[in-house]
Amino acid sequence: MKLLKFGGTSLANAKKFLCVADIIEKNKNHEQVAIVLSAPAKITNYLVNIIENNININQALEQIELSEKICIEIIKNIKKIQSNFLYEETKKIIKTEFNQLQNIIYNFASLKKYPENIQAIIMSRGEILSIEIMKNILISRFHQVTIINPVENIISKGSFLNSKVDINASKKCISKINIKNDNIILMAGFIAGNNKGELVILGRNGSDYSAAILACCLNSKLCEIWTDVDGVFTADPRKIFNTFLLKSISYEEAMELSYFGAKVLHPRTIEPLKDFNIPCIIKNTSNIKSKGTLICQKNNSNENMLKSVTNIDDIAMFIVSGDLIKQNNNLISKILDILKKENINIILITQSSSKNNFNFCILEKDTKRTMILLNQLYELELKEKLLNNINIIRNLSILSIIGFNIFQKSNLTSKIFSSLGKSKINVLAISQGSSKYSISVVIKKKNILQSMQTIHDELFYNKTIINVFLIGIGGVGKSLINQILKQKKFLENKNIEIKIRTIANSKKILFLNNCIDLKHWEKYFKESKEKFNLEILNKSLKNNCFLNSVVIDCTSDENLSKQYVNFISKGLHVIASNKKANTSSLEYYNKIRNTALKENKKFLYETNVGAGLPVIQTLQNLFHTGDNLICFKGILSGSLSFIFGKLEENILLSDATKQAKDLGFTEPNPCDDLSGIDVARKLLILAREVGYEIELKDIEIEPILPEHFKKYHNTEEFLYKLKEMDAIFIERVKKAKNSGKVLRFVGTIEKGGKCSVKIEEINSNNPLYKVKNGENALTFYTNYYQPIPLVLRGYGAGNNVTASGVFSDLLRIIL
Ligand code: ADP
Ligand code: ASP
Ligand code: MG
Repeated sequence: MKLLKFGGTSLANAKKFLCVADIIEKNKNHEQVAIVLSAPAKITNYLVNIIENNININQALEQIELSEKICIEIIKNIKKIQSNFLYEETKKIIKTEFNQLQNIIYNFASLKKYPENIQAIIMSRGEILSIEIMKNILISRFHQVTIINPVENIISKGSFLNSKVDINASKKCISKINIKNDNIILMAGFIAGNNKGELVILGRNGSDYSAAILACCLNSKLCEIWTDVDGVFTADPRKIFNTFLLKSISYEEAMELSYFGAKVLHPRTIEPLKDFNIPCIIKNTSNIKSKGTLICQKNNSNENMLKSVTNIDDIAMFIVSGDLIKQNNNLISKILDILKKENINIILITQSSSKNNFNFCILEKDTKRTMILLNQLYELELKEKLLNNINIIRNLSILSIIGFNIFQKSNLTSKIFSSLGKSKINVLAISQGSSKYSISVVIKKKNILQSMQTIHDELFYNKTIINVFLIGIGGVGKSLINQILKQKKFLENKNIEIKIRTIANSKKILFLNNCIDLKHWEKYFKESKEKFNLEILNKSLKNNCFLNSVVIDCTSDENLSKQYVNFISKGLHVIASNKKANTSSLEYYNKIRNTALKENKKFLYETNVGAGLPVIQTLQNLFHTGDNLICFKGILSGSLSFIFGKLEENILLSDATKQAKDLGFTEPNPCDDLSGIDVARKLLILAREVGYEIELKDIEIEPILPEHFKKYHNTEEFLYKLKEMDAIFIERVKKAKNSGKVLRFVGTIEKGGKCSVKIEEINSNNPLYKVKNGENALTFYTNYYQPIPLVLRGYGAGNNVTASGVFSDLLRIIL
């Protein structure tokens, strides 16, 4: 005998019902099967809505209508696929059930709250109907079916809504049922009966528990729980990235995992299976081939101790403090007893070492009742100040790490706390499970996803992940993606993984999930319908829960550069390939740095000067170790390096400029290059980097061309007019040549911070003498580097070198 349980997600529509019927048939070919079904997806939620406090009759009827619609839709479509399905009979049963439900609602409408026995009846209708539908599918496929009524046979104790099953009593009842060997056994999950024969339910998600009970009662050799994921993962795969399927876990681990919130199993499911030594497999109805996760008795000694990260949300923490706690040993046990009596589940307890502080966590929904109980219990003590006023912290979550003997795992707690620390998440309480299978921390609910992702990656994902939010996919952005793709394997060998989470340009944004292969990003980007604007970007960054997250700005958008402080405040690093932020006001320049310092995030911009040349980092290294700049001279523009190089080959200024433009060295209109402003901007960044507090306007620019050239916005016209300057430059070049010099467009920072950009005559001893053909060169005269300066020389523009500079900034985030 084998037991198979199918959850609501496996019964969401007609196709799924039929697929479940196929699985049942396949298994029946080998041995007798018993089937436990949950309600079709969503139905229990609608029914639960009915019993919510503030709902009026009409809203309740609406929920019934929605539930009925789902069921009718399911059977209609089953009939379409399986024509001999008993549609009319099933429809009649569905209609009757929902009519009865309507009557219940009219009868109890005058009450503020439905009595609990009625709540149980309302909530369990979905399961009853699942069984009716499945029974008729199986009958129409010519199977014999025995239905076990759980109210009569699954005997339980406790409240109407969260009952606990008496297995022995249930086993006795079930043994009395005459079940033929060739029959398929069907039973509604979630439902049981008390000793008065009244319907009770087993708590939300309780049909897993029903399955375990029936497996024990029927002496099944296996209990299969069929759901919508491949098995038990290292964390909820619907919430957390990079999770792994666990091949097998022990009963104890499964119990702890479900107790601490893994919804894949109801918390009470495993205990009976363990007692009867029945193995359990979690399987996926939508992926039958997957082997699933085996839960059984096992010796964990050779395995990874850590198994999963789980969470329970909507937690409130009670803080009971005062001298009485120290004096009265009974106080804590009294609290525990009274809450237990009232069916209030204490999920976690901590006590301070000074012993006058006792904290416990419960579900938020039980807060009011708990407060009333405590105030009644300690009325006198509170009055006499032996106990302080009881405090409650709400909106919390419990995050737990589950595994076998996890306390023996070296560095575990330090890893947990360091990853939470890096994400700036406060821990309000910590508890090590007495069972040695878990360690839990209490944190604010708003931080739960980020904390789980961070801790999960730290404990289970053997790689450091950098999460990239890329904006700008022009030449540099595209090259960067290609370089990241090319280096994937190389970085993997170093346990580094770069995950691009979003790619955007000024119009669109693509959110990359695990299903999108970065190789095909251009196709997906084309297909993306998501519009891009700062609001959408900020929203997605706000929800970002990854450690090591970086915004890379490969645009030239000034508005975006004004967001850097905001990004950093949200916990992201920022890499800028454009100079907008660093050449804006000194106030904003400092604000970015101060925020980055405060948030412990990086602002990197290596490519602002000299593209891929290691300029900024080299300067920072020098100055962090005590060097001082005496003076700087540099050729900071690739286009001007090219043009001035050509002049000494006796090429006319206008021709040299045209050539530079044709080779792609210049801005769309070369007038912008020749204005010298771009060189001034780079100089400003260098000057600020070495500590001079100056603005762009403080830089003296000696223009290459007279003022009136600025008015030629049309490139053709500009190049034509430029011929007017050819003769002047022939003269200047000649004059320089006569004294053994060449003309160079040089940016200078003098001692004291005076900055200028101008054409200079350079003699052959100067390192800048030979710099041409688009090369950049930067010469730093410092205390350590003199009289021979430190010289950085190489191409200072181009998509590939710039992208590689951005890439190296990216790796500096973690190195
Ligand atoms: P069913 O309707 O089949 O009972 P549930 O929704 O109750 O399904 O449980 C399955 C869900 O449990 C999965 O979709 C998944 O989101 C969630 N879940 C939570 N933690 C885990 C985990 N560690 N491994 C697998 N699934 C998990
Ligand atoms: N249908 C019930 C619920 O949604 C029981 C279950 O699915 O296990 O809680
Ligand atoms: Mg479930």
